Amino acid sequence: MYLDHAATTPMLPAAREVWLQESQVAGNPSSLHASGRRRRQVVEESRERIAGLLNVRPSAVVFTSGGTEADNLAIKGLFWRGRQTRGSSVVITSRIEHHAVLDPVEWLEHDQGAQVRWLPVDEVGRVPAEALMEALTDAANVALCSVMWANNEVGTVQPVAEFAALCRSAGVPFHTDAVQALGHLRMDLGSLNADAVSLSSHKIGGPVGVGALILDPQTSLTPVQHGGGQEREVRSGTLDAAGIAAFAAAVEHAVTGQQERAQHLRDLRTLLVEGVQRELPSAVVNGDLGIDESHRLPGNVHVSFPGCEGDLLLMLLDAAGIDCSTGSACTAGIPEPSHVLLAMGRDETQAKSSLRFSLSEATTMRDVERLLQVLPGAVERAQRAGAVSVRAG
Ligand code: PLP
Repeated sequence: MYLDHAATTPMLPAAREVWLQESQVAGNPSSLHASGRRRRQVVEESRERIAGLLNVRPSAVVFTSGGTEADNLAIKGLFWRGRQTRGSSVVITSRIEHHAVLDPVEWLEHDQGAQVRWLPVDEVGRVPAEALMEALTDAANVALCSVMWANNEVGTVQPVAEFAALCRSAGVPFHTDAVQALGHLRMDLGSLNADAVSLSSHKIGGPVGVGALILDPQTSLTPVQHGGGQEREVRSGTLDAAGIAAFAAAVEHAVTGQQERAQHLRDLRTLLVEGVQRELPSAVVNGDLGIDESHRLPGNVHVSFPGCEGDLLLMLLDAAGIDCSTGSACTAGIPEPSHVLLAMGRDETQAKSSLRFSLSEATTMRDVERLLQVLPGAVERAQRAGAVSVRAG
């Protein structure tokens, strides 16, 4: 039973079909001959399709190799451009970003002389708007602000429209990582006022290795990759026409029918959360408990199990045929406490005792019921193992 759709989700039949068809055709979209022009047409039609679905201009769509590259391009590119044109050296970001944002920001700090203003989060993982207002007080010195749309671990949704508006009126470029939000939340980028938005194909049923940075055509940044000058010289590299066409099919699916799918996910989430609270009263459900889409992702359930190592629990569930995640990073095989839970005020032990279940439209009530049958026994075994390791020192 696969309950790790936030890590990656299987390719949709519509995306797979397009990919299979397009991957059999020769031609580099930058070549001038007929085959190249046909590939270019596939790319441009996909760009228009994605732009139309997200309500932006086609020229705003910059294809990348995925969410990590889109984040790096936005963070480094906006920082370098801001420093070059305005002499600004401050980066504003939150403590709960994905590593695809955190790590480039920390690299800019340690290697490129950036000053970072870390926005705090409250106990459900939301950045208070007042914190951003305060960070924007000397806006002329701020190169960019980046706050994720929805958190990949605990599912908390940020008021990104409000943040984008605050940054716009302060004249500060605003980037948001929308990798987990696309397909789960309503997304009208035309009215968002963000300068840059990161998307990834494999989180929405498209192929791995494709994504996009939706970059306001008025916003300029310094490229990270230099080469053939593709994508308006913002992102060099041969375009993957088959992957891009399949990504467009996945975006179409993500945007159309999103509301109905979100309702299905909310129903499953409610069943799972109520079941966990009934069977395991000591468990703590993390993130915002509000159910609607301004509060949280509909298909994310993140729970701390006191007295358990999250990784051991994960392995016990794995042995029972259930795939889930701790949601947090693991360095060289050593489980790290979740930086998201630490930022939300939990201690290290609590931050290591959690699991994330991420559901999809393919998840059924039966799947949730089976998880609820297996979970109490696994938690008991993990707690016993935890008690033994505490006694052993
Ligand atoms: N940003 C967020 C919030 C994510 O959850 C992920 C993937 O887990 C990424 C960025 C990275 O995306 P990709 O796997 O396409 O590089």
